[in-house]
Amino acid sequence: MLDWPFDNSFATLPDRFFSRLAPTPVSNPEPIAINRALAGELGLDADGLSSDDGVRILAGNTVPKGADPLAQVYAGHQFGGWVPQLGDGRAILLGEIKDIKGIRRDLQLKGAGRTPYSRGGDGRAWIGPVIREYLVSEAMHALGIPTTRALAAVTTGESVYRDLPLPGAVLTRVASSHIRVGTFQFFAARQDLKALQALTDYVIARHYPDTEDAQALLDAVIRAQARLVAQWMGVGFIHGVMNTDNTHVAGETIDYGPCAFMDGFHPDTVYSSIDRSGRYAYARQPEIMVWNMAQFATALLPLFDDGLEAAVERATESVRRFPDLYRAAWMDVFRAKMGLRSNEDGDVGLIEGLLKIMGERNADFTNTFRGLSDASARAQFPDPSGFDEWEERWLARRKRDPHSPEKQRELLRTANPAVIPRNHQIENVIRAALADDFAPMFRLSDVLAAPFDLSAENAGFSRPPEPGEEVRQTFCGT
Ligand code: AMP
Ligand code: MG
Repeated sequence: MLDWPFDNSFATLPDRFFSRLAPTPVSNPEPIAINRALAGELGLDADGLSSDDGVRILAGNTVPKGADPLAQVYAGHQFGGWVPQLGDGRAILLGEIKDIKGIRRDLQLKGAGRTPYSRGGDGRAWIGPVIREYLVSEAMHALGIPTTRALAAVTTGESVYRDLPLPGAVLTRVASSHIRVGTFQFFAARQDLKALQALTDYVIARHYPDTEDAQALLDAVIRAQARLVAQWMGVGFIHGVMNTDNTHVAGETIDYGPCAFMDGFHPDTVYSSIDRSGRYAYARQPEIMVWNMAQFATALLPLFDDGLEAAVERATESVRRFPDLYRAAWMDVFRAKMGLRSNEDGDVGLIEGLLKIMGERNADFTNTFRGLSDASARAQFPDPSGFDEWEERWLARRKRDPHSPEKQRELLRTANPAVIPRNHQIENVIRAALADDFAPMFRLSDVLAAPFDLSAENAGFSRPPEPGEEVRQTFCGT
């Protein structure tokens, strides 16, 4: 039996925070992928994980010693509508371990069977969404953006029924915790102030130890989320389900359901098949996060230590700071993408100028920005006159920057990835996996691990979809 150094803290919270239950065993677990680099970060033995004993744990067939498996409860606003009870309907938290840096990390099995929060669902996942989350969350990490991680993917040997029978799989998700805005909302909505206070104390101790009270926690989460959304914008990422139950209190990207990285740029881009109104379109993500932060503030209000009116006023002030924090973070991200170190008033206009012509011509988001580092951006524009005009402004601005041209080029190469997980590539990988060929997944995974350095032989991975290959819709990861 593998010895994992569990050190569980969430399980010590009151019983109404979760339901204790073990994963449901599966008939024939087989490994798809084990993330050796992440195993190393966690201080776990990757060979052990790949062994039969390891795979049994990763599939939920064996509960390792020291684990205290449970499903967490939460609530949330889904597409703006209040749902008083959600929870881990297909995920089991095995427990926590401290990684090699001493940071507490959750180990969760996703697709591990039904729980009291499954509602009508089967508690399972098929390999499509499991592979998608594995690749996209690890790519996000390689891009330097806070995210939940993927330690392993295994098949179950069982079929999962969606419109047709599909091979089942389990993902091992690693996160700094799995606490969401919706976790706070669950207790706030029940006016369970004891639980709300216990959760607040817990989150402060675990994620924001320098923070003193609910108000300071609110401010800290707002800062983290402003930064996170700005980083998404910088890589053309569309989360797709920015519901409050998918808003992580430590500011990690969580829930890779209908998400996508944009190919051709347009600010109104939406991929999610269930987002008919464009609520979670690319350009709306910052305002949606303001809305989510307002829900978080509302949940925390009872813990503010003055009368309701004063509390509302202070919470409102905090939420109102989001746009400025976001704007500053967005400027940091995009200024680096322009290769600039210094600040000038006209920089917003310069950046928006490029985005505007990109949007008009649907220029490839990733390749246009990457092209700024090697003079290939112009080729993204069939009629380059608009780009030429813009480029003149940009070159003049670069002359006024304190960085040398070499430094600027270096910054351009480290702020603009050459590869992102493109939808059509993920679809191809999933198609191959359904035919039992996982080689394309491993190749893509290797390339995505170093998104800022693309070798010539892998240049094909930066190719946008051909017209017939375009993926226009992505689906919730059920
Ligand atoms: P999501 O769309 O992944 O954010 O999930 C929303 C809610 O539905 C969460 O409470 C999930 O646990 C639950 N859920 C999603 N898929 C399933 C499934 N296949 N079985 C049970 N519950 C599910
Ligand atoms: Mg979710």
